Amino acid sequence: MAENFDVIVIGSGPGGYVCAIRAAQLGLKVACVEKRATLGGTCLNIGCIPSKALLQSSENFHQASHTLKDHGVDVGEIKLDLARMQARKGEVVTANTKGVEFLFKKNKVTWLKGAAKFTSPTEIDVAGTAYTAKHFVIATGSESVPLKNVEVDEKRIVTSTGALELDQVPGHLVVIGGGVIGLELGSVWHRLGAEVTVIEFLDRITPGLDNEVSKAFQGILAKQGFKFMLGHKVTGALVTEGGIELAVEPAKGGEAQTIKADIVLLAIGRYAFTEGLGLDAAGVAVDNRGRVITDHHFATNVPGIYAIGDVIAGPMLAHKAEDEGVALAEIFAGQAGHVNYDAIPSVVYTWPEVAAVGKSEEELKAAGVAYKVGKFPFMANGRARAMGDTDGFVKILADKTTDRLLGAHIIGPDAGTLIAELTTAIEFGASAEDVARICHAHPTLSEVVKEAALAADGRALHI
Ligand SMILES: Cc1cc2nc3c(=O)[nH]c(=O)nc-3n(C[C@H](O)[C@H](O)[C@H](O)COP(=O)(O)OP(=O)(O)OC[C@H]3O[C@@H](n4cnc5c(N)ncnc54)[C@H](O)[C@@H]3O)c2cc1C
Repeated sequence: MAENFDVIVIGSGPGGYVCAIRAAQLGLKVACVEKRATLGGTCLNIGCIPSKALLQSSENFHQASHTLKDHGVDVGEIKLDLARMQARKGEVVTANTKGVEFLFKKNKVTWLKGAAKFTSPTEIDVAGTAYTAKHFVIATGSESVPLKNVEVDEKRIVTSTGALELDQVPGHLVVIGGGVIGLELGSVWHRLGAEVTVIEFLDRITPGLDNEVSKAFQGILAKQGFKFMLGHKVTGALVTEGGIELAVEPAKGGEAQTIKADIVLLAIGRYAFTEGLGLDAAGVAVDNRGRVITDHHFATNVPGIYAIGDVIAGPMLAHKAEDEGVALAEIFAGQAGHVNYDAIPSVVYTWPEVAAVGKSEEELKAAGVAYKVGKFPFMANGRARAMGDTDGFVKILADKTTDRLLGAHIIGPDAGTLIAELTTAIEFGASAEDVARICHAHPTLSEVVKEAALAADGRALHI
């Protein structure tokens, strides 16, 4: 007889492990299957957490090398101990993955070690043992998209996984893809001394971000020393003793050129991962991009099988996966689990940071919504000046008639933290005036949010 659970979650990333914990909190008998040696999925092992550890360390190095002097702090000769930086990153990852293991024990979630494979719509196999459940949750996440003629070896041509493990600072790092992951990891190695060139197929970086913010972002990165080849595509990579020769062409056609690199980071996106899962045996339908198709309650076309996180449609973000995990567990327990997709923030953890929630100006235009814009620069904020971090601005988009907040975009210091206030405001259906009337502590960066909200009504005070 197969062992039976109320809920079996497949995959222990932020979608899966959070769903498992919440379901267990609600009194259900839960197992979570994970084939990796540690829990936490892409996010904790090879994604959000290690990248943020290296972003923090490299920013500290950059500050010590460049900006501390301006503050009157002379630290003498600065030396990079990359081995220690990498070891610290490993310690941060272990603390987090062990933390999930602890939470599983605390909440009595059983970790089934191995790869899950559906053998029928009602049963999975894990390491030769059969399991059944009232509810199966597919939370198998995503993998890096490959590129024809650019073969990844994770040593010299790397995905984000290899880019987190380099044991030397590359002389020239070429990043293929001007999205969030490429720019974050490009920033890490640029701060540590690499020359960085970003080759992007589109004529802009960070597609999906508000265009004005995206342009400002590119300008700031260029000022830092990033080189950009927009509107170009890589058609091949030749690995030689002396480096990697990339064949690059204009995206619209034209003369090819060769770009030499020491390390190539392939970061052109991620795809939903379901390999080896036996979706055919279960009869679960996927869309034309391989994503598991779900309804508004995360149900697939097969009764009893659900899916959440990167493996379904929507932004590939850890907190989106987590919120879906919580909502689904609550639905299993008979509650009204729900995710508000209009209020999911996204953050680029470069310096300055970039953060957004709700609609961009382009989206509002395309939808024919009449809107007004409130903008305020960090340059006019006392705290930003005191910090020496004055690049960027807050931009608020509000409905022209009702003043309701529709979108917020920030490029600047701690944008990722500042966006939380505007996410709360959007979640609560606030107007720009509501935000403008809230008392914000002085001197803080959050005053830029208040001033941008005032600016939406043409009455910013400090500019
Ligand atoms: C470099 C990088 C940086 C990132 N930074 C951020 C960030 O700062 N903020 C953010 O919000 N997002 C970030 N992301 C994205 C984030 O990691 C993902 O959105 C998130 O991990 C998705 O969670 P998930 O639970 O859907 O899947 P995943 O975290 O991908 O977890 C899926 C798990 O399922 C397991 N699995 C797959 N198939 C099976 C099977 N058949 N049996 C058993 N186990 C299986 C896998 O081993 C994996 O552990 C980053 C991603 C990368 C690559």
